[in-house]
Amino acid sequence: DPILQFRNLSMDYTGRSGRVTRALDGIDASVGRDEFVTLLGPSGCGKSTLMKIAASVVRATGGEVLFEGRPLAKPTSRIGMVFQQPILMPWRSVLDNVLFPIEMMGRSPRKHAEQARELLELVGLKGFESAMPSELSGGMQQRVAICRALIYDPVLLMMDEPFAALDAMTREDLGIELLRIWSERRKTVLFVTHSIQEGILLADRVLVMTARPGRIAASIPITLPRP
Ligand code: ADP
Ligand code: ADP
Repeated sequence: DPILQFRNLSMDYTGRSGRVTRALDGIDASVGRDEFVTLLGPSGCGKSTLMKIAASVVRATGGEVLFEGRPLAKPTSRIGMVFQQPILMPWRSVLDNVLFPIEMMGRSPRKHAEQARELLELVGLKGFESAMPSELSGGMQQRVAICRALIYDPVLLMMDEPFAALDAMTREDLGIELLRIWSERRKTVLFVTHSIQEGILLADRVLVMTARPGRIAASIPITLPRP
C-alpha cells in the first residue's frame, strides 16, 4: 500500500472579489513506502498548495488524501515537514530547536536529547549542539530544520524547495547530504522542487506538473546510478 495517496484532488482559491482560481485539477498520485518522489514543476503549478494539503494546513476543495490508507484529517507527527526557510527560533540553541516539536507535543525533551544529538551528527553538525542559529550558515540552519523534522521519526518526510534560499554550492552539498540521510534511514520522501537537476539527483521517481490549472503530466522513474 502507498504511504500517501492523492485521489482526484482539486483546489479552488476564491479571491476577495469572488473570482475563483483553480490551483489543482484532478491530481492522482501516490508515494510508496521507502520511495523518494520528486514533485517537479514551474512556479505557480500548485506544488506548495499540494504540500499544504498533505500537511493538513489547508483543505482541498475536492478529492481526498489518504495517509497510510486512511483519510488525512489533521496534522500528524508521522509526517515531517521542511520548508523553504528553516525558520529556527533565534533565542534557542541548535539542540533546543531540534527538540522543539517534542516540547510542543508535551513530551520530555531530556528523554529525546540523545536522539537529537544523533540526528545532528548524521547531518554533520556534531559540536554545534549549543550554538545559536545566528552563528550558523544558511545551509547549516536548513540541516537543523531537517533534524527537527526527523525528531519524531516520521514515516514520511516532505520537503518544499528546501534549498530555495541557498546558493548553488550549498545546494549541491545539502543535496548529497540529504541523499545520505535518506539512504541511511530509509525514509519515504516527497520532495518539491523546480530544479530538474535536484529532482533527478535525489529521486526514484519524478512527478512532472504543469500549470494553469495544476496537473500531473507525467510520472517518470529515474534509473540513473546515484552519485
Ligand atoms: P507553486 O508552489 O508551484 O509555485 P502554488 O501552490 O503556490 O504553486 O500556487 C498555485 C496557484 O494557486 C497559483 O496560480 C497561485 O497564484 C494560486 N494561489 C496560491 N495560493 C493562493 C491563495 N492563498 N489565494 C489565491 N490563490 C492562490
Ligand atoms: P516522551 O514522553 O519522552 O516524549 P514517549 O513515550 O511519549 O516519550 O515517546 C516514545 C517514542 O515514541 C518517542 O521516541 C517518539 O519519537 C515516539 N512518539 C511519541 N509520540 C508520537 C507521535 N504522536 N507520533 C509519532 N511518534 C511518536
